Amino acid sequence: MDFNLTTSKPSDSEHVKVLIIGSGPAGLSAALYAARAEMDPVVLTGMELGGQVSLTYTVENYPGFPEGVGGTQLVELFQKQAERFGARVEFDTATEIDFSQRPFRVHTYNGEYLADTVIISTGATPIHLNVPGETELTGRGVSYCATCDGWFFKDKDVVVVGGGDSALEEGIFLTRFAKSVTIVHRRNALRAGAILQKRAMENPKIKFIWNTIITEVKGDEAVRAVHLKNVATDEENDFPTDGVFIFIGHNPNTQLFENQLELDERGYLVTDHLMNTNIPGVFAGGEAADPNFRQVITSAGMGAAAAMQAIHFLQEHSETKEESTVRA
Ligand code: NAP
Repeated sequence: MDFNLTTSKPSDSEHVKVLIIGSGPAGLSAALYAARAEMDPVVLTGMELGGQVSLTYTVENYPGFPEGVGGTQLVELFQKQAERFGARVEFDTATEIDFSQRPFRVHTYNGEYLADTVIISTGATPIHLNVPGETELTGRGVSYCATCDGWFFKDKDVVVVGGGDSALEEGIFLTRFAKSVTIVHRRNALRAGAILQKRAMENPKIKFIWNTIITEVKGDEAVRAVHLKNVATDEENDFPTDGVFIFIGHNPNTQLFENQLELDERGYLVTDHLMNTNIPGVFAGGEAADPNFRQVITSAGMGAAAAMQAIHFLQEHSETKEESTVRA
């Protein structure tokens, strides 16, 4: 591959040194670091500025905010800080990429970028249960976001599915509105951390149904019930509810890169410890490349690291280019 910083380009495409795809904590932290190195990064927000954290009511474990900070507020602060140093945040989405030669070509809804380096921080999307009624009743009682939809369930009964941190955190949040929150979990032990477990167990509005899966969501213009199956006894019954909030994990948003970058068997981008993907000049950070930690702080750290590597890469290649010009 031949690296060329001053390539000819179609008149409607913009040449940038660092293109960041995705605007969650990883993308905006990458933007901050690249901007402070005067790389004039451009961030493509994707469909949701801030990604999943912008849908989180309170983030209590991001250092520097002893009282917690609203998810949307944290994203605004990240963006403001990156923009202060010259990052440009574009409300645009990458639709097609070509990493076969540099500069890399990235098509978006609004145009095309030629990028000397690309940082991928496209995050992850909630997994669905894939049971009858789920898709049909999404937005009519089935939800994947308590912060977005909790308010609609004032004084209603809701079910939460899952036994991880998300299920418990969102379940606790839903008790602000709902009359009751029933957490349905497929095992008899929670995966969530100890503090959240304690808070959920002590909350008088929260009840648990153990060893149970939902096999159908029932309703008409709204959710009326879930059909439950106890996996230990095979007993089945309808459980009346007004809402179903599903928090059973996430899939990485990496479909766009399927044929050009190495992905693991679950679809996460494969990087080395320096955030390099298998293509030199393409870096990745945050949940699209992280099946393990998936925290705001770890994603932000990975984004910063990816940007530092992109800066290195650009410096190395411009030095190589200058040296060869001098030699010539
Ligand atoms: P998770 O930890 O993967 O938990 C998913 C839960 O859903 C598990 O309890 C799992 O059951 C259950 N589940 C999976 N597939 C299911 C299915 N088809 N039907 C029924 N249940 C199913 O996902 P998460 O809670 O979204 O958390 C993801 C990551 O983000 C974790 O690393 C977590 O620590 C982190 N996180 C942290 C915080 C925080 O620190 N405040 C908040 C949210 C998320 P099993 O337990 O049986 O596998």
